[in-house]
Amino acid sequence: MSTLFDADLDRPPLATALDALQQVFGYESFRGEQQAIVQRLIDGGNALVLMPTGGGKSLCYQIPALVRPGTGVVISPLIALMQDQVDALQELGVRAAFLNSSQTPGVAREVEQAYLRGQLDLLYIAPERLLTPRCLELLARGRIALFAIDEAHCVSQWGHDFRPEYQQLDILAQRWPTVPRVALTATATEATRADIITCLSLQDSPQFIASFDRPNICYRIVEKHEVRRQLLNFIREEHGGDCGIVYALSRSRVEDTAEFLNRNGLTALPYHAGLPAPTRAEHQARFLREDGIIMVATIAFGMGVNKPDVRFVAHIDLPKSIEGYYQETGRAGRDSLPADAWLAYGLQDVVQQRRMIDASEGDALHQRRQVRQLDAMLALCEAVTCRRQQLLAYFGQTVEPCGNCDTCLEPPTTWDGTIAVQKLLSAIYRLWRERGQRFGGGHIIDILRGQMTDRVKQHDHQSLTVFGVGADLTTEAWRGILRQALALGLLTVDLEGYGTLALTPASRDVLKGERTLMLRPVAHETHAKSGRRSARSADLAAALPPDAQQRFERLRAWRAQVAKTHGVPAYVIFHDATLRDIALQQPQTLDALGTISGVGIRKREAYGPDVVACLMDSTNGQ
Ligand code: ADP
Ligand code: ZN
Repeated sequence: MSTLFDADLDRPPLATALDALQQVFGYESFRGEQQAIVQRLIDGGNALVLMPTGGGKSLCYQIPALVRPGTGVVISPLIALMQDQVDALQELGVRAAFLNSSQTPGVAREVEQAYLRGQLDLLYIAPERLLTPRCLELLARGRIALFAIDEAHCVSQWGHDFRPEYQQLDILAQRWPTVPRVALTATATEATRADIITCLSLQDSPQFIASFDRPNICYRIVEKHEVRRQLLNFIREEHGGDCGIVYALSRSRVEDTAEFLNRNGLTALPYHAGLPAPTRAEHQARFLREDGIIMVATIAFGMGVNKPDVRFVAHIDLPKSIEGYYQETGRAGRDSLPADAWLAYGLQDVVQQRRMIDASEGDALHQRRQVRQLDAMLALCEAVTCRRQQLLAYFGQTVEPCGNCDTCLEPPTTWDGTIAVQKLLSAIYRLWRERGQRFGGGHIIDILRGQMTDRVKQHDHQSLTVFGVGADLTTEAWRGILRQALALGLLTVDLEGYGTLALTPASRDVLKGERTLMLRPVAHETHAKSGRRSARSADLAAALPPDAQQRFERLRAWRAQVAKTHGVPAYVIFHDATLRDIALQQPQTLDALGTISGVGIRKREAYGPDVVACLMDSTNGQ
């Protein structure tokens, strides 16, 4: 099955990093910190690399592996994706292979032999495999260019991707102290970083922290009403035919939502840890290979999926942390073309998550940490300033207002909500002080609005002085105010009660009238409507002129054929961005084709004649 080594087997390493970048990958120049990282590894040093999803981490170890003598050993937790990673590298003419439990012993032996003969540039290994005495002994008999520990945040118990085997990877530093080690992750929090440094003995290594900004992603957060309907409209209006990911918190929501989208004429596949492994593998493969598939998934899906043309990531439940949210949304638009991150959330999300945290196992410290993460997420949702500024501030980075998020595109007109919040807080206060009672948001709002519900009558709440003081605002508006009070830390969802509300010390200033509160508009949707993109993202999206569009379609059809024959995803042949450039520039010769970003030597040779012929055909109008 393996087409392992049709590239020249015994070629010498490439002379320089720039040669490798241009000749193998077909890219003109390094991005951001890539060059410094690559040079550090080539010189034999260790490094810790923090870059956002889609930031370009892979080149940081792939290029040094091509330049240094020996094989680059990549430790990756993602067995299901190794095949695609290796296929993509082989398409570039890189001698890559993997060792994992999905292989027959015969194929594994072939890979081992190639490694020992020095005929591999890159070897991907799952951590549990690597840690076996047999594998360690094998590695010791060959020549290792470097170790790359991908998804290095898996060492940390705090994250949701914790893998115990990762904590044993210190063995690399002990056994091979002179082989450079690079740990890479998109998780940037202090705690995770500290864990990586300790577990992988990187105390003396420089940390390369890239900008976490992903300017081509437009962030939008909307109020949840009828979330599936809202989702459907969002996809239909803005992403017809596009590939995207929808994240939901529970398995049943994943299934329901996928079914709902399918019923409404879209192609959606469910993905969660409760599905049998073969089904998951099949859905993942279809998502990677077919056009226009929508993956509806829990967070179990996505790590390491590097499909470049995911056009949107939608969250229909509130993510548990900004970190998780940022990693998930980062899976959109890796090709740098415009993409959307769309999140719908409501009060119920907050209540539900507080309950889940409360019910979760783990010590108090861990629970408090989770609550803090949720609070930060909530603050992001209720922010009246640029979303990107808020997101990046979470990672300790500052930027100007971005012009490509909902609050920038359509700045919320804030209003003085001090009195409304005072009413809300005092209703909660009085119930507690006068009656020793606590209630959830729904009932409090009924009291404020003066609704004679059964529950109101049952508790004689119509006799409270606050009864009906908020009749001027709709239930919806009150929900918005309540959420903002939560986001501002004036209220908490009580961990002991059933999602009941309690005041925090911070509420005192507001009740005493010593603090003014400017709130987001309430009771109507505040998301940017389609067509309101920033100039920057509109540039990126600039539609191709009709003739170029035709060539692009032709090239895509050709690409689909080739991808099918090779049994690889289409983007492994060429990215959309590369095909767009080709369609625009119409290179007539192989040399001209070679100047286009994403066309390296190997692909120029393998596909150049076809591509040029394809362009000729379209100029001949056939
Ligand atoms: P990460 O692993 O950090 O999520 P990748 O390594 O998958 O990101 O890179 C994201 C995309 O950017 C890929 O499609 C890759 O080919 C492209 N890319 C990376 N570095 C460069 C560069 N220097 N020039 C052009 N494209 C690049
Ligand atoms: Zn913004």
